[in-house]
Amino acid sequence: MATHKRKLEAYYGLLAPVQQKKLDEFIKSSANKWRAIWSGDSDIVLFEVHRGNHKMGVNIHQRTCNCNVWQLTGNSMFQLITSMYCTPDYCHSKILYFASGMPCRYAVAVMYKIGLKPEEFVHKWLTMESIRATYKHCIKPMNSKEY
Ligand SMILES: [Zn+2]
Repeated sequence: MATHKRKLEAYYGLLAPVQQKKLDEFIKSSANKWRAIWSGDSDIVLFEVHRGNHKMGVNIHQRTCNCNVWQLTGNSMFQLITSMYCTPDYCHSKILYFASGMPCRYAVAVMYKIGLKPEEFVHKWLTMESIRATYKHCIKPMNSKEY
């Protein structure tokens, strides 16, 4: 446990490593295959995301997308439940487990288009800041054989 905590303190990424991996492997990699086009609205929040004959509508301000995944995975109660009960090996839906707290691939395609970082759209519970806060409260400093 102490070793684990030291590793956390030495890690400077915005997201927890496992969440960063999920974002990179499952979302960013497929977002690259889609092309976002601004719909022409004055607020610059509506985009169409294209790939071949497929098209998805994204509202980057309301954080909604026609695929409905973003709305669902952005829901706090949904995230609480998946974070408590789902693991990659034991979950009724692996896709939802991996998507929990993450923007969908179409939303990420829009973020790339307008220069936003997908990491900043990931739920705060999955960030290093929240993990550090958890460890600070849960673990009292202790000496181990390694010292
Ligand atoms: Zn979507």
